[in-house]
Amino acid sequence: SAYNEHIGWIYMIQDNTVEAQSMNLTNDSIASYERLLNSVLSCISAVMQKPTGSMLGIHNNHYTEQLGNTADGHLAISKAFKEPFDPQGNRQGEVWVDSLGRWFSVAEARVTLPGGSHVTLQSALDITKRKINEQEFEEQTSKMENSSRLITLGEMASTITHEINQPLTAITAYANTALEVIDRAPEVNKAQVLEIYRKIANQAARIDKIIKNIRAFAKRRPTTLEYVSLNSVFSDTMELGRLIEKKYAGVQVVYELPAVVPDVICDPVQIMQILMNLIRNAAEAILEHGSEDKTITVSAKVGAKDVELSVGDHGPGISDTMKASLFTPFFSTKKNGLGLGLSTCQTIAESHNSRLRVRDNEGGGAVFFFDLKICFTKDSEAQKQK
Ligand code: ADP
Repeated sequence: SAYNEHIGWIYMIQDNTVEAQSMNLTNDSIASYERLLNSVLSCISAVMQKPTGSMLGIHNNHYTEQLGNTADGHLAISKAFKEPFDPQGNRQGEVWVDSLGRWFSVAEARVTLPGGSHVTLQSALDITKRKINEQEFEEQTSKMENSSRLITLGEMASTITHEINQPLTAITAYANTALEVIDRAPEVNKAQVLEIYRKIANQAARIDKIIKNIRAFAKRRPTTLEYVSLNSVFSDTMELGRLIEKKYAGVQVVYELPAVVPDVICDPVQIMQILMNLIRNAAEAILEHGSEDKTITVSAKVGAKDVELSVGDHGPGISDTMKASLFTPFFSTKKNGLGLGLSTCQTIAESHNSRLRVRDNEGGGAVFFFDLKICFTKDSEAQKQK
């Protein structure tokens, strides 16, 4: 009272039933739940979040061993999630927890209690070792892919050198002629000199194109989808196709293209890479088999929404047993083969929402094919203007 006398009691009562039911199970049920929870390899924990703080509820031995006796481990894992809970209060995924320096595969379920507090049930499995292995494997594969490309490049080095040497010799000859014409003639014949310089520029542009193609072929880069004219992809492929014809004597690459080739959505450098790999494989198969028909047919068939691109040969073909493992990395029947060509092609086809497939060619041999999405004129114009 105002006079500091004790005149009564105030009781505050809050209905805690639901919270108590979820957090304080009876001893019997705790024992059987504990047995069950401890048999699971994941760290299982329930944490109640109240305005006053977080409280660790039920948890199994794995949780204590790996994350301690407090809610901190549970909360750190929860915080690492990028996705929010779905409308049913669930979420799952693989998360990297910076503060713990570990990867976890996590499933969480959140229940909101009538009082407004939340209970989150979490199951977290440490997958750090698996993740490290996966990363190492990826790095290894990407290194091997690069070396596969570089080996191809190495094999072609002499052809490439020859290819570049030709325009280079021409440039030197034209330049010398130009010097002579300018130096010796009493009066410079402008038209003649211009013509010589035009030839020099053309030859230099040719070298530039060869080098650009080689660079694109050797470089590993992420897929960048663009709206492109399939014709330009083919003209670059034909350029490299000629190198193949020179390297693999007798082999002839022919193109069956429709009169009107549509624009497509693709990464042109990567598509050229697929076509080149397939043409090279076909050439090797033809020569190895000693086929009489040494023609490799590159064709484009236009459908309603897609263009099917294919590379066909009349080599030994592919047996049904081989078909099963053809696209697996490191599958090769060649003495010095790495077996990464087709699997790289498959990855590229997949990043174009397609799959690289193989069928038997009419009259023997194999046809490898995949699809590209056509882009319809209006969209492509709009995109190009962007
Ligand atoms: P690599 O060329 O290094 O062997 P690839 O992944 O490109 O690797 O090819 C895997 C295997 O598929 C080859 O070793 C070969 O046996 C087979 N193959 C590929 N293309 C053809 C083809 N056109 N005809 C017959 N066999 C082929």
